[in-house]
Amino acid sequence: MIIFENHVMKNHSNMKVGGVAKRFIYIEDKNELKEVFDKYENIFLIGNGTNTLIDDEELDITFVSLKKLDKVEEVAEGLVRVEAGLDFNKLISFMNLNNYTGLENLAGIPGSVGGLVYMNGGAYGSEIFDCIKEIEIFDDNHEIRTLKRDEVGFSYRHTEIQAKKWVIISATFEFKRGFDLQKVIEIQALRESKQPLDKPNLGSTFKNPSGDFSARLISEAGLKGTKIGGAQVSEKHPNFIVNDGTATFKDILNILATVKSTIKEKYNIQLEEEIIILKNKSR
Ligand SMILES: Cc1cc2nc3c(=O)[nH]c(=O)nc-3n(C[C@H](O)[C@H](O)[C@H](O)COP(=O)(O)OP(=O)(O)OC[C@H]3O[C@@H](n4cnc5c(N)ncnc54)[C@H](O)[C@@H]3O)c2cc1C
Repeated sequence: MIIFENHVMKNHSNMKVGGVAKRFIYIEDKNELKEVFDKYENIFLIGNGTNTLIDDEELDITFVSLKKLDKVEEVAEGLVRVEAGLDFNKLISFMNLNNYTGLENLAGIPGSVGGLVYMNGGAYGSEIFDCIKEIEIFDDNHEIRTLKRDEVGFSYRHTEIQAKKWVIISATFEFKRGFDLQKVIEIQALRESKQPLDKPNLGSTFKNPSGDFSARLISEAGLKGTKIGGAQVSEKHPNFIVNDGTATFKDILNILATVKSTIKEKYNIQLEEEIIILKNKSR
């Protein structure tokens, strides 16, 4: 493993905000997880940081990254084992190269495979669990186990991995042949036309309330473009908060609070964050 003390976290979050962490560890072999979890407390698994807002104070946290576990291999016809640290779009490239189909609708999601499995990420009617056969985890008893798909509780943007605090080491996918490159091109063009990809952001900020869309509510409430410090409700996609390069953690918390209180006041709807907010203990 590689250990850094006093590690700057700003570039580990796609929002480009983050303080100095007590410790940052790159795992190089899955068997190192036991040593790390036995030794350290207050651990946070970080993938590509595309869904995680990190406090910009000093962080009494040990961050653990599986980015160096990024192997993807065909283990049998139609079965592909992928380590959690692999960038999801590299899996899409592997599928293209090997003519496998099933996850094209998710193309362009900037997370790691581990991050997507953790929250059953998805887009345009598909989700990552659609193609999962089994996952390999490091569990709450500090043991490595393999669970079949039907042994894992999952639903829309949710898995039991979250409450159990398991570490995802790898996932084995079951694919059919027939990669749809045209679909990937269309989906990526759609993302580029609808999302403010030129500025740091964390994707959709709020979960959609039942029967409605957060983006619609935020837009209708006239909040598009609202700015606090360096944080802004995107003009292009109202459910995205963007950083103009100068935003602090507090600016972002303030803009989240403003959006939530306005929507509550106007529509009596309590919006809930989809992004993960990692606050230092002292807050
Ligand atoms: C421009 C943009 C567009 C996006 N579009 C979509 C979309 O269409 N659909 C969608 O679902 N999401 C979308 N997202 C959000 C984000 O990309 C996904 O939630 C993704 O799954 C997060 O992966 P990550 O590796 O970046 O996770 P991180 O932000 O690093 O972590 C997220 C959570 O996963 C946990 N985690 C990460 N790796 C592991 C692991 N190996 N084991 C256990 N837990 C782990 C972390 O502890 C954390 O709690 C978008 C984000 C951006 C910035």
